[in-house]
Amino acid sequence: MESTVASKLEALMRLQQIDSQLDEIRRVRGDLPEEVRDLEDEIAGYEVRVNKFDEEIQGLNDTIAARKQAIKDSENLIRKYEDQQSNVRNNREYDAITKEIELQRLEIQISEKKIKEAYYQIEQKNNDIAGTKQKLEERRKDLDSKNGELQVIVSESEEEERQLLAEREAASKAIEDRLLSAYSRIRQNVRNGLAVVAVKRDACGGCFNTVPPQRQSDIASHKKIIVCEHCGRIFADVEQKVA
Ligand SMILES: [Zn+2]
Repeated sequence: MESTVASKLEALMRLQQIDSQLDEIRRVRGDLPEEVRDLEDEIAGYEVRVNKFDEEIQGLNDTIAARKQAIKDSENLIRKYEDQQSNVRNNREYDAITKEIELQRLEIQISEKKIKEAYYQIEQKNNDIAGTKQKLEERRKDLDSKNGELQVIVSESEEEERQLLAEREAASKAIEDRLLSAYSRIRQNVRNGLAVVAVKRDACGGCFNTVPPQRQSDIASHKKIIVCEHCGRIFADVEQKVA
């Protein structure tokens, strides 16, 4: 069964009323839901940062352990070379071993420098972790209080919102897809969320531009869907003028 233009307009008006009530609920909630989301994102970011620092410290500790082992190895080699030196047959052999010992001492110096650097970096990262954890603590407190506020506000309108959303789904089903997507598009593009308006006092109820008399009678006849030539909103009806 083909629905008439009049019934389509009626369904659109119904949908608009529901959406306007939902808009009002969301207006009362204000920026709180977004603030809560932002805080959650920020907290997640800090947690990632702390984990990253922890991993980096683990890596530095591994470096320190490896360098300490390298120093022990070099010391063992040096002891071995020194033993060999007491049994050399000539100066050339003695000098060659001396060079090896010097090389190992140099290796030890490099390792000691790397260990010092690693300890310094660990200290820096621990400071960063402490600072980040402090911010994390503050943000978690903010989140708790914002969440508390939001829960109070949401609980006041939760049931109403649930009902409206159910009504919205039923109302949407009565409207063909093409018209429904046009409606959604208009709603997104207008400031007050009104996609369906009436002509009031000879003007568009959305943008307040004048609607000529001939157009008004076309609108009032409900024979076809007419949109405002200025703002694109759908005209559902012409409000009766108060005499
Ligand atoms: Zn308009």
